[in-house]
Amino acid sequence: MAARQAMPHQDAKERTRNFDEVALGYTEEQAIAEASRCLECRNPKCVQGCPVEIDIPGFIAQMKAGDFDEAIATIKLTNSLPAVCGRVCPQEVQCEELCVLAKKGEPVAIGRLERFCADHERKKGVAAPVRAQSTGKRVAVVGAGPASLTAAADLAKEGHAVTMFEALHDTGGVLTYGIPEFRLPKSIVRDEVEYIKQLGVDVKVDYIIGKIKTLEELKNDFDAVFLGTGAGLPKFMGIEGENLNGVYSANEFLTRVNLMKAYRFPDYSTPIKRGKHVIVVGGGNVAMDAARSALRLGAEEVSIVYRRGEDELPARKEEVENAKEEGIIFRLLTNPVRILQGDNMTVKGVECIRMELGEPDESGRRSPVPKAGSEHVIDADIVIIAIGTSPNPMILSGSDGLKVSPRGTIVVDESAKTSIGNVCAGGDAVTGAATVISAMGAGKLAAQTINDYLRNN
Ligand SMILES: Cc1cc2nc3c(=O)[nH]c(=O)nc-3n(C[C@H](O)[C@H](O)[C@H](O)COP(=O)(O)OP(=O)(O)OC[C@H]3O[C@@H](n4cnc5c(N)ncnc54)[C@H](O)[C@@H]3O)c2cc1C
Ligand code: SF4
Repeated sequence: MAARQAMPHQDAKERTRNFDEVALGYTEEQAIAEASRCLECRNPKCVQGCPVEIDIPGFIAQMKAGDFDEAIATIKLTNSLPAVCGRVCPQEVQCEELCVLAKKGEPVAIGRLERFCADHERKKGVAAPVRAQSTGKRVAVVGAGPASLTAAADLAKEGHAVTMFEALHDTGGVLTYGIPEFRLPKSIVRDEVEYIKQLGVDVKVDYIIGKIKTLEELKNDFDAVFLGTGAGLPKFMGIEGENLNGVYSANEFLTRVNLMKAYRFPDYSTPIKRGKHVIVVGGGNVAMDAARSALRLGAEEVSIVYRRGEDELPARKEEVENAKEEGIIFRLLTNPVRILQGDNMTVKGVECIRMELGEPDESGRRSPVPKAGSEHVIDADIVIIAIGTSPNPMILSGSDGLKVSPRGTIVVDESAKTSIGNVCAGGDAVTGAATVISAMGAGKLAAQTINDYLRNN
């Protein structure tokens, strides 16, 4: 079997001083060579691993034949954000994990092929879509992240008039404010949002539902509502010193860097503290993004502090490898116990304790247990907490009757309906922090449910 095509990357040393994209994408020759590895299985298991059910063998066969235009058309039948998904989807635990070639060696690089097709289309210029005939029905979509963008696109394609309300000054949700430019260039998110606008979706930014308008009012003004408000409320550890200057939630830090363009100083004067020694607490994609952003802002030393071991790191393996290549230090089996105070209420270090792994906890992962007497101090002037998020409760003001779980997530049934008639929800607001593609899958399901409802009422 031919070997999987390696992804060309920007040199590790060079890329730590810029925010340009790290992965450079396949050449045409590489894309065709990689597509040629696909066996075009009769029972393609890869499709079962894709939450939006892209016809994977179909688009890969078109690539093999060099017909990239057809290939992207096939992908877009079920996925409105292919350039995004081709870059950030955790393919290794979705389509690629189920690819038959994974059993014998390396799976087909499905994500990289998807990215190639989307980039090929962007280079040529994406043709404006034909707008659907109006049904006269109006739908409000709250939030502008991947769940809402997918729901809005699918509803607009059915001919419903969609208005999208976004709290921030730009669209994209985490794709814009969270995931950094070097993993997902914002121009790509903008172009994909532009395509959705061309389908007829009216976007209103700086518009907080729960403040400017309540859910109750939306429900009365529109025939149906979709809530895709995400999980943007950061969690903290509850340890001493978290109130010091120099302690950020990863959300705040990444929002300042990405959405508010702090990295483009002096063109943008967004304040951000540029640390010498930065500690990022957590082991997920968010922690990797914060650490790699801090390095690019000029830190001398950036450490990930994570209470479990390397095998338990929840971040994508590819991103952990990228972070290591760039020089991020991994302090595994280590947990902060307090943040130490320097002059003027600033951070001067973090006291940590070493951990060992005990029995599996409710998440199935072995739980970390502190090792008595192993306390030690790591110097730091910035601490970024990236231990998870929960849904922002803002949407709940003025939404009497909307059932919410004890974790703060919106409760839905199997067809994405909430406890309020004509209101559906999906994405991180329902599941808690998850993935782009699962949010998109939920947006699709909700759009189907809303469409059925509107056709019958
Ligand atoms: C730093 C970071 C890196 C990540 N990396 C990856 C990755 O590599 N791969 C991957 O698959 N997933 C990744 N994720 C997770 C992924 O981005 C999320 O699961 C996904 O964005 C969830 O989509 P969503 O549409 O549900 O919510 P969001 O993307 O959070 O969008 C919700 C939107 O709703 C808006 N909103 C909230 N409340 C209101 C209101 N009351 N009124 C109006 N608007 C409101 C918010 O401002 C936001 O724009 C990452 C997450 C983060 C934070
Ligand atoms: S399972 Fe793998 S080899 Fe088979 S069709 Fe899907 S991508 Fe191709």
